[in-house]
Amino acid sequence: MEGPILVVNCGSSSLKIALFDERLTKLASALAERLGKDDAFGAIKDHKDHVELAAGADHKEALNSLVAALRDSGLLEGQPAAIGHRVVHGGETFREAALINRDVLAAIKDCASLAPLHNPVNLTGIEATTALFPEVPQIAVFDTAFHQTLPPRAYLYAVPTRLYKDWGVRRYGFHGTSHQFMAREAARILGKTPATTSIISAHLGNGCSITAIRDGNSVDTSMGLTPLEGLVMGTRSGDVDPGLFDFLANKGMSSQEVHQLLNKESGLFGLSGQTNDMRSLCELANHGHEPSQTAIDVFCFRLARYIGGMMASLDQLDALVFTGGIGENSSLVRKQTLGHLRLFGFTIDDQLNSHHGSISDGQIEGADSRFRVLVIPTNEELVIAREALASRKG
Ligand code: ADP
Repeated sequence: MEGPILVVNCGSSSLKIALFDERLTKLASALAERLGKDDAFGAIKDHKDHVELAAGADHKEALNSLVAALRDSGLLEGQPAAIGHRVVHGGETFREAALINRDVLAAIKDCASLAPLHNPVNLTGIEATTALFPEVPQIAVFDTAFHQTLPPRAYLYAVPTRLYKDWGVRRYGFHGTSHQFMAREAARILGKTPATTSIISAHLGNGCSITAIRDGNSVDTSMGLTPLEGLVMGTRSGDVDPGLFDFLANKGMSSQEVHQLLNKESGLFGLSGQTNDMRSLCELANHGHEPSQTAIDVFCFRLARYIGGMMASLDQLDALVFTGGIGENSSLVRKQTLGHLRLFGFTIDDQLNSHHGSISDGQIEGADSRFRVLVIPTNEELVIAREALASRKG
């Protein structure tokens, strides 16, 4: 292969890029944060020097600067062989990754009303790499695509069907690349094929979602029309009574204020009044800070309820899988959550759990547990790089 695979992940105010070789070994990564703000900054991982970004730099400027910095450091020579982009919303159009052409770009634009904070910056990322590397094939990998196998009973809301028909109001689900990776990794650990493996995958990071995967296919998931539905998250509320919107409107709040409240000021942050960071919450709770303990309790209880609910979509469960910053690192969250599920027959091995499965190929369940429980580090970049590589070969 004549160059590395470049992976581009544009978040609402951040940009992450990574380079992989043809064996899918990561060669380098770089990030830019606080884009659009005066204190925007960039860095190459494991390099001391920061990448200079102008105040208020946008995604395009940041991408140009990070690519230039990778070149200056000798980490990127020539052109990439292929470029993989994370795209948040693929609506019902994309069931798998797509080679980017004019039609695909138009379809991503069409989905922007469903993800107004994300799809436009994803498009900016694609435009920026197209300008830098016009000859290089580019692939879009969608967060929603893996969930396109949901049956109607799982994706329909009980509202008039014209909302679905006219405006696409349905549950789409997100974190698809991570859940898909979990299905594949769990199958490998269990010595099975993905097509015969059924798991419940809990991705617990700043955003949190849980997915039931039956024989390799997503059949239920906790995020919905937007990534706000479902589990308690860092600053997002997850499920609330839809009547809350009306209630807050009657209190004089605008829809923008409600959006801000539920997306940025709720979740672990809203409940604790302190932080959205689970590690800090655990420390605060240890020192007797009650609101932090309450935030952890609500988080774990909601998660346990969802795990129970996901059982309705499966007729076998090969493993419950934890991933994401919290899922991979918080033995306390895993233990407390499974403590709510004793009736199902889950038990946990405290020693394996305290090592986060690292000494046991992911395993943390107790010897008497009815179900396997695994901790598997996620790697969404790798999935995107793999798709980009496959499109080169395919
Ligand atoms: P993102 O969704 O932004 O990629 P991550 O997957 O990195 O986020 O997850 C971030 C979350 O993981 C934070 O709440 C952080 O506190 C939590 N986390 C990371 N390490 C630990 C740890 N050792 N114990 C508890 N929580 C942790």
